[in-house]
Amino acid sequence: MKLIPCWITTSASPFCSWRLTPTQHRITMKEVASAAGPETRPLAPAAHTPMIDSHVHLNHPRLETDLEAVLSRASSAGIEMMLVPGYDLPSSRQAVALAERYPQILAAVGVHPHDAATLDEKALAELRELAARPRVVAIGEIGLDFHRDLSPRQVQTEAFALQIRLAREARLPIIIHQREADRPSRELFQGESAGELGGVWHCFSGDEELADFALAEGFCIGIAGPVTFQNARGLAALAARLPAESLLIETDAPYLSPHPHRGQRNEPARLPLIAESLAALRGGPVDATVRATTANFRRLFLQSRAT
Ligand SMILES: [Zn+2]
Ligand SMILES: [Zn+2]
Repeated sequence: MKLIPCWITTSASPFCSWRLTPTQHRITMKEVASAAGPETRPLAPAAHTPMIDSHVHLNHPRLETDLEAVLSRASSAGIEMMLVPGYDLPSSRQAVALAERYPQILAAVGVHPHDAATLDEKALAELRELAARPRVVAIGEIGLDFHRDLSPRQVQTEAFALQIRLAREARLPIIIHQREADRPSRELFQGESAGELGGVWHCFSGDEELADFALAEGFCIGIAGPVTFQNARGLAALAARLPAESLLIETDAPYLSPHPHRGQRNEPARLPLIAESLAALRGGPVDATVRATTANFRRLFLQSRAT
């Protein structure tokens, strides 16, 4: 199936996720920079253009234990910004706390499909409050995971729908986690008109048909460590062909460490390995891929989308 660049369906702008209803201004790069303050470490001279890790769980216990060292290595590797998504209520609170403490961190709040059963009314109300905080730039990660089925499917579906509605209320894009649930995800997505919100299909593991759907809906595609694996040929072929305007890069740390660190704890300092693999597959310089993914991130999560 032919991939449709996401901008084909946009009316006003040639960029991913701009086919949107007007949303409120959230935060600008200038505000992020000014929040840094004079005490912030300068970025180390990096081998690459500074890059953004669009999905990293610095709120996970495996990364919290030596967070300062993890952040220091990220800075030395040229990672200028990181988006930390929640996966349940405590991790969402922690994502916000990190974003309010560190100028290079932004937060998303949401309940992962594995934990969908924890999304009761009280949790939803607190997510709503967290979503209003200025350093929160998305609702996520949310979606359906029928691969591991750690919550009943009906419960996952209800939690996904509720959080899409929360994103609409909060006027935020969404970060979708999905495994082996292509058709139900698409049906729910369309039933809730989630394309209007903008967002990303993170750590994409679907086929061309799903990529086609995501792009047609104006969504970005998150490319993570599996793109470096020799046995991920379908993903590699897809990553080579996706329009540059649709790409984000992510580590999904502490999970999915890229080659040659597969199986180890992952961390944002390994993002350059993912960028290098992606650039090699696409046949261009690493800097071009990094510049595109950084620009896509900024458009999706940082720019005012008010018309
Ligand atoms: Zn995920
Ligand atoms: Zn994740």
